Amino acid sequence: MTAPQSSPRRILIVGAGLAGASAAATLREQGFDGGITLFGGEDHNPYELPPLSKDVLLGKRDEPDWVRPAGYYSDHGIALHLGARITALRPADHTVVDADGREYGYDRLLLATGSRARTLPGFDGDDVHTLRTLDNALTLREKLTDGARVVIVGAGWIGCEVASAARARGAHVTMIDPAPLPLRRVLGDRVGQVFRDLHTDHGVTLRPGVRVSGTDIRDDGRVVRLDDGSELSADVVVVGVGALPRTELAEAAGLDLAAGGVAVDAALRTSAPDIYAAGDIAAHDHPRYTGRVRVEHWSNAKDQGAHVAGNLLGGHDAYGADPYFFSDQYDLGCEYRGLADPARDELVLRGDAASRVFLAFWLRDGRITAALNVNSWDHSDALGALVGTRAHVSPRQLTDADLNTLIPVDAPHHR
Ligand SMILES: Cc1cc2nc3c(=O)[nH]c(=O)nc-3n(C[C@H](O)[C@H](O)[C@H](O)COP(=O)(O)OP(=O)(O)OC[C@H]3O[C@@H](n4cnc5c(N)ncnc54)[C@H](O)[C@@H]3O)c2cc1C
Repeated sequence: MTAPQSSPRRILIVGAGLAGASAAATLREQGFDGGITLFGGEDHNPYELPPLSKDVLLGKRDEPDWVRPAGYYSDHGIALHLGARITALRPADHTVVDADGREYGYDRLLLATGSRARTLPGFDGDDVHTLRTLDNALTLREKLTDGARVVIVGAGWIGCEVASAARARGAHVTMIDPAPLPLRRVLGDRVGQVFRDLHTDHGVTLRPGVRVSGTDIRDDGRVVRLDDGSELSADVVVVGVGALPRTELAEAAGLDLAAGGVAVDAALRTSAPDIYAAGDIAAHDHPRYTGRVRVEHWSNAKDQGAHVAGNLLGGHDAYGADPYFFSDQYDLGCEYRGLADPARDELVLRGDAASRVFLAFWLRDGRITAALNVNSWDHSDALGALVGTRAHVSPRQLTDADLNTLIPVDAPHHR
């Protein structure tokens, strides 16, 4: 990769989500006084997605969290083009092209195009929903009515949060997943059981271990067919089967791809000169993990967006934060830090999983790979430090000791 020139005058950002808008704001906050143009495919000002599947779906509010207040962009000389889709990227010319054929030149470019919701073949129609945008959330919310029969395909984070909101609105909910337990891929069997019990205690019918095989509209309405031969009648179907990074611009332009996203080095530079990527699409050569790390979470988009600003201006600082995410379902709130492989790492629980107030740790070779706090908010700093230092601890220490005493002093940050 060639070294970036040190004084860009025109910075373009494709994607006005959390990563893109955070980058734009941070550029100004760092004193950059050149041109910043932010292209957003949607008509809304840049917003954060987490409230969509929580307070917005619950009907507690109609607006998400805005990345910055409405007047911020014009007040700070950021050209925000909404409803503006970039359709081509020409690295050799240092230009992008929008859907109307207009060309824009850049000295530095940030790709922050995020993800789209994955869909299932044959699952379409006004009663079939995905949840990625504010418009998706407002449309779906109207359907989650008292007594509505809601079938959720996928028991991941989105499926689980939609189930929680749908139950709060009085809908009958059935959630289907090929895995035996909700969230099992991320949290493993034991913690997955906690989420299974959470949902069944709140009246969700779980259908673990089955896949959808198709769907039909019959005389009496929508039917979802399962691969065990059974069928479910539905007024509303929510497809929550994951997200697909929007890599098409990068791919067509010949940038290197990896791990389902756009390959970036430790400093978030792509394989093309002067082009960076951040947020959901960035498949990052993380300095503290082996292999590419691509994180589809709020803090990653926010922090990478802010971090990449300095590198767009000529820096070459590695991004080294650990993955972090949170979720709220019914009366359960949780935070997860780090990156464990629950099929391989040893699980240690501290507290009472049955009462849903506990901490979970994952250990590999005696070192902490990840920590989860469930309805327990007193240890956030200690958990961050234990994960951040890859603390070497015994299971016994994790269950019994004051966590602050386990944080190594001057521990090397490596893994
Ligand atoms: C419903 C929901 C709830 C979530 N809840 C949580 C949570 O509780 N905790 C958590 O940690 N994470 C959560 N996440 C994940 C988190 O919000 C995402 O990881 C984060 O928003 C990614 O930010 P991003 O900027 O990379 O992409 P996005 O937010 O997807 O933004 C990308 C933007 O780029 C635009 N765009 C794409 N292509 C183009 C183009 N060619 N031209 C112009 N614009 C383009 C898109 O329209 C979009 O507005 C949730 C996600 C969803 C969908």
